[in-house]
Amino acid sequence: MVSQNDSDSRLELTGDLSVGGPPARRWAWVEVNLEAIRRNLQRFRRLIGPDVMIMAVVKADAYGHGAVRVAQKALASGAKWLGVSNVEEGIELRKAGIAAPILVLSEPPASTIDLILHYGLTPAVHSTEFALSLGEAASAMGRIAPYHLKIDTGMNRVGVHSDDAPDLLRTIDFHSGLQLQGVFTHFATADEADTYEITRQYDRFMKALAEMRYMGINPGIVHAANTAATIRYKQAHFNMVRIGIGMYGMHPSEITQSQMELYPAMSVYARVTMVKSVPMGEGVSYGMLYRSPGNVLIGTLPIGYADGIARELSGKMDILLKGRRLPQVGNICMDMMMFEANQRSSAGRLAIQPQVGDEVVIVGRDGEEWITLDELAQTLGTINYDMACRLGERLERLYVE
Ligand SMILES: *Cc1c(COP(=O)(O)O)cnc(C)c1O
Repeated sequence: MVSQNDSDSRLELTGDLSVGGPPARRWAWVEVNLEAIRRNLQRFRRLIGPDVMIMAVVKADAYGHGAVRVAQKALASGAKWLGVSNVEEGIELRKAGIAAPILVLSEPPASTIDLILHYGLTPAVHSTEFALSLGEAASAMGRIAPYHLKIDTGMNRVGVHSDDAPDLLRTIDFHSGLQLQGVFTHFATADEADTYEITRQYDRFMKALAEMRYMGINPGIVHAANTAATIRYKQAHFNMVRIGIGMYGMHPSEITQSQMELYPAMSVYARVTMVKSVPMGEGVSYGMLYRSPGNVLIGTLPIGYADGIARELSGKMDILLKGRRLPQVGNICMDMMMFEANQRSSAGRLAIQPQVGDEVVIVGRDGEEWITLDELAQTLGTINYDMACRLGERLERLYVE
């Protein structure tokens, strides 16, 4: 991070001379608590017992938490496999020196086969064309490429349909350049109260596995459960569970909340960059949709929709300052947003006087108050997965062990 270049180190110094606090270059950042990742994985270990492997799903830059650091922590905390969504993400982990097995969760384009072999990634396979190209390329190098067969049991997204899986295996299993190392499926409704669809998916998966075994094919590592299915369905654990959202300390839906305590790993902070007294009737931000009711201080924060604080949250979210909730006001800008500190003391509580440099919590705890990614997601009309990915994209991350 610290640059060799003179003008850059001066920049670094300027940051350090200010109120300080990480990161020095910009007063808005994501904090990722790696200890929370460890504790969450420990909870899952207790739930699944010693014999089931954990795949830590670190796709989408570990749901915005940073793939390399999360992967390292997850492996140190007992995860055996890593799951990514594409070859690019797998390469990033390999370049960081991570040697653990990495599954690309859906079949990548055939044009990536050379990279897959070079970096030792394990692809999901669901088509004859891809499988045979992979086998040919591996054979030409005198190697055997491991793969996991992805079976579609009803989500209708990717995977070979469960009825067609035996046929696909009949076509590709002979190939000496290929090794079936695992078989998996993915559930569409594991986090929903109604169990009808997941039962159907489970039954189709069991049937496909039985047919495979009848054909004399060993399915290898069998896996199906995401976080929700891991918490709710022991019979879906098989040989490995694929944990994403739960590792980051969030619940896939309200339905699992009471069944497991998890520790959120992501917090988001910003420091106040400007404070103004705005007279009654004056507008704030683009469009001036918010008008000062008088007797307020308006604080500015250097974080906006390009950092993942969706513009649709304008005027609907709170921030925490000195343990108190204060309303965000005016339209959220690309890189900034404003909040209001009413100067009339109410309910016997003194008004908060924001100061430039004060640390504000956007996501996380401050005293008794707590703003979760779930709260923001709910206000926005989306899910915590989406909210975490947004916030993790542009903001610099600070890791705490
Ligand atoms: C993302 C993903 C997971 C992890 O799901 P969570 O709900 O975050 O636990 C597991 N399996 C596959 C195939 C996925 O794409």
